[in-house]
Amino acid sequence: DPVLELRGVEKTYNPGKAIEVSVLKGADLTIERGEIVALIAPSGAGKSTLLHVAGLLDQATTGEVCLNGQSLSAASDNKRTRARRNQIGFIYQSHHLLPEFSALENVVLPQLANGASEKAAKQRAEDLLTQVGIGERMHHRPAELSGGQQQRVAFCRAMANAPQLLLADEPTGSLDPVTADQMFDTLLGITRDTGMAALIATHNHELAAKMDRVVKLENGLLIELEKQTV
Ligand code: ADP
Ligand code: ADP
Repeated sequence: DPVLELRGVEKTYNPGKAIEVSVLKGADLTIERGEIVALIAPSGAGKSTLLHVAGLLDQATTGEVCLNGQSLSAASDNKRTRARRNQIGFIYQSHHLLPEFSALENVVLPQLANGASEKAAKQRAEDLLTQVGIGERMHHRPAELSGGQQQRVAFCRAMANAPQLLLADEPTGSLDPVTADQMFDTLLGITRDTGMAALIATHNHELAAKMDRVVKLENGLLIELEKQTV
């Protein structure tokens, strides 16, 4: 089974009202294990809506969202929350780390929430932070880290529960070009090593071209682009 499958996904805000907005109009997407897919979308095209629906944070109006072959579009909130916690990691444009906790704690906490032991959670957090090159800074709070380091911690947090799907919304969008490039190479390297599937929104066509496939969100539909033309 594909890790993520969207079939005919439509999303309309305020259906039937005067302020009705139809954002997704039958989006289809299949992402297999190990595939890293770039999502390109003009501003306002519905990128956040798509990521929220794919990430089970918001419900499609019609159509199917399947994770590892399990259809979750019509599942209970409880079931969707569990699937999200176990199977999906998110990274945002800005880090959204908990300011009062250290980098290490920020990566430990989601594991404890998911039932891991304190010892195992700490070990995994240390390994992840070391892998992204900030082992030395793991006891610092987010405010004591650079933007690039903060995003690396956010990446480790997304990876904390070993998700099968990584969803990222312009994860390097708030960084300067050089830092963005380095952070992105780390992200791609580890994502490839773990065989995770990923859908990564970016405005940067050079970064998009480094991924396995590129899809564009346009007029409510997802269109597969030839990588050479990106
Ligand atoms: P993007 O992330 O590509 O900028 P969004 O998914 O945030 O786009 O929004 C796409 C469209 O849907 C926009 O026209 C926006 O105004 C509308 N929209 C987004 N969220 C809501 C909402 N909760 N209620 C009504 N309209 C919304
Ligand atoms: P918890 O209650 O453990 O914080 P949630 O069900 O609220 O878990 O969230 C699970 C995952 O979804 C977390 O990775 C969280 O960061 C992400 N998440 C929650 N709400 C939003 C949102 N509005 N937009 C994007 N991601 C979200």
